[in-house]
Amino acid sequence: MLYYCSGSPSAKRGDRHLWTWPNSHLVAITGAGISVESGLPTVDDVVAGVSLRRLFQPRIWREQPLEAFRAFRFLAREWPQKRPNRAHLALARAEIPIITQNIDGLHRAAGSTRIIELHGNLRELKCEACEGIFGCELAWREDIPRCPTCGHILRPGFVLEGEEVRHIARAYDWVAEAKGLLVVGTELEMIPVRQLYEVAKRRNVPIAWVRDHAEDWVPHLLGQDRDADSLFCPGEV
Ligand SMILES: [Zn+2]
Repeated sequence: MLYYCSGSPSAKRGDRHLWTWPNSHLVAITGAGISVESGLPTVDDVVAGVSLRRLFQPRIWREQPLEAFRAFRFLAREWPQKRPNRAHLALARAEIPIITQNIDGLHRAAGSTRIIELHGNLRELKCEACEGIFGCELAWREDIPRCPTCGHILRPGFVLEGEEVRHIARAYDWVAEAKGLLVVGTELEMIPVRQLYEVAKRRNVPIAWVRDHAEDWVPHLLGQDRDADSLFCPGEV
């Protein structure tokens, strides 16, 4: 029971009530695509002279921490100014637990309270020596911030390439109990996230995979757009 959502939902109104979709116990897995409409840069963009792709690689933090922290400060200042879009808000309104690959904090800004940030977030800095976690504001006090406890150079709180994602066991528990799964704005290329999807598939629960137009599809799937002729019929399955 997998439905690919792409293009505009209004163009697909011909197939009405194609599905019965659970009206409770949904879980969402989200990726960068959900935040596109909020105006966030993609990994191919360059911020403060550093490509985002490089910022997620451990090497730049070891070899060019000055440049890396300059880009970090740019992101930590700019991203909180971005606003959640209709997709984030619809998930928050429906109180759907969210497993996200994003570090942009937009689910939290939308009002969601049950969020697993698999890749960490921009709000924190971390010390690899003493494992302390600190607020990102330390990055404004020094060009290359140091741990207030042990003096070691800090690093960002988000997960870098090759590192383990966070809280994956809890994410499995959520998906194992879900009656339906929404996949939004991710191609599920990362293995742990792909496996979460596989768990839902094996359990044969309905899965809606939103490939684009997340800001239209998510409210539509959750019965929050005004058109009564939704493609999906909420009800227990
Ligand atoms: Zn430390």
